Amino acid sequence: MNPLSQVVRAARPVFRSISTTAPAASAPKPIPPTGICFELSDEQKALQELARKFTREEITPMAAHYDKTGEYPWPIVKKAWEIGLMNGHVPEHCGGMELGVFDGCMVAEEIAFGCTGIMTALEASGLGQTPVIIAGNKEQQKKYLGRLIEEPLVAAYCVTEPGAGSDVAGIKTKAEKKGDEWILNGQKMWITNGGVANWYFVLARTNPDPKCPAGKAFTGFIVERDWPGVTPGRKEQNMGQRASDTRGITFEDVRIPKENVLIGEGAGFKIAMGAFDKTRPPVAAGATGLANRALYEATKYALERKTFGVPIAYHQGVAFLLADMATGVETARLAWQKAAWMVDHGQKNTTIASVAKLHASEIANKAASDAVQIFGGNGFNTDYPVEKLMRDAKIYQIYEGTSQIQRVIISREVLNAAKNTA
Ligand SMILES: Cc1cc2nc3c(=O)[nH]c(=O)nc-3n(C[C@H](O)[C@H](O)[C@H](O)COP(=O)(O)OP(=O)(O)OC[C@H]3O[C@@H](n4cnc5c(N)ncnc54)[C@H](O)[C@@H]3O)c2cc1C
Repeated sequence: MNPLSQVVRAARPVFRSISTTAPAASAPKPIPPTGICFELSDEQKALQELARKFTREEITPMAAHYDKTGEYPWPIVKKAWEIGLMNGHVPEHCGGMELGVFDGCMVAEEIAFGCTGIMTALEASGLGQTPVIIAGNKEQQKKYLGRLIEEPLVAAYCVTEPGAGSDVAGIKTKAEKKGDEWILNGQKMWITNGGVANWYFVLARTNPDPKCPAGKAFTGFIVERDWPGVTPGRKEQNMGQRASDTRGITFEDVRIPKENVLIGEGAGFKIAMGAFDKTRPPVAAGATGLANRALYEATKYALERKTFGVPIAYHQGVAFLLADMATGVETARLAWQKAAWMVDHGQKNTTIASVAKLHASEIANKAASDAVQIFGGNGFNTDYPVEKLMRDAKIYQIYEGTSQIQRVIISREVLNAAKNTA
């Protein structure tokens, strides 16, 4: 049995003992779930509590350090791996727990409350793994996902290039078939975990004909970091989420065995885009966690800070900002929960995943900005926690599809629905 399975199996009874305290004699009998149910299972409550405790004890105290130094949070990644807070979605046949997207989102929201830079460092590995989960064969999954269960290693997702981000079909990295191998050449940009990943999912053009439709022109590959010709660039100095490692990567005559093609030639675009149905809900959950932290910090401060003889929380202008933040946190959470629940139940969730990602990104930015406002001059200063929230929030409107691209997806759906009912 691999170490993670042992830890998880050992921890499961602990999860239960945390959450299954006997109900008081007068407590109402639980109603069996019919239709919608907002109650977490005992195991989910325990997982949430584990992530909350880990965040409180290991992440929150170190967030400012990683923000200042920009170091990759390896000690935290290793601890998260040890207690089973990473790779939850890896299939059981690879030694994983095969948890649903909903459970992963719950963990993401908790960790993001402590630091979204660290949350992104952890979550980007999930993004890199998702193409292998949705499109890998058993051997590929066992080799590459199993490796992440055996050791605290991370993966990355390499699609964006210096010349193409939103317009994925515009990428220029190419792979050419030579016998039993593919030869990969090109450059990727803004790759989270780019310098620390053990392997990458890479999208490359394999049909040079510009008239070839995107659905057939690209192929998805698994590429190992240590293969000759793979060169990560310098760590980028970003505005926020500085614990996360973002880099360009150059591929020069990298030889990829045919066994590392996902599904087959031409299937890459669909795989790369399909991954977002499972990865946008956790990004939305991360943004929700950030908004919730902004609400928490702003509320605490508003009750302590006095002007005109009363705590500023008693000025309606401030209290209403808190009310707006609370409304945002609740609705953002509901949206990621629905998006995650749908994909876990085999339902098409592309539109609601975009709704959740768009809404939570906007909410996180507004909540962080309002928290800075409530802190007044202190909010603008690095000795207080909210300026980091404002810097960290911005990226949610950019990565995993910008807010404009989410609106493109959502509006397309609205218009198609209108045309179909006309
Ligand atoms: C910190 C960070 C981490 C990242 N991590 C990864 C990663 O792990 N893997 C990966 O592959 N990529 C990653 N990215 C890349 C990210 O997904 C892209 O930056 C993003 O998709 C936008 O692409 P772009 O930067 O090329 O902007 P562009 O596509 O050039 O867009 C520029 C502006 O134009 C707008 N725009 C573009 N097209 C339209 C349109 N049709 N309608 C309306 N507005 C439009 C955009 O919304 C944006 O405001 C990361 C980026 C950053 C900054």
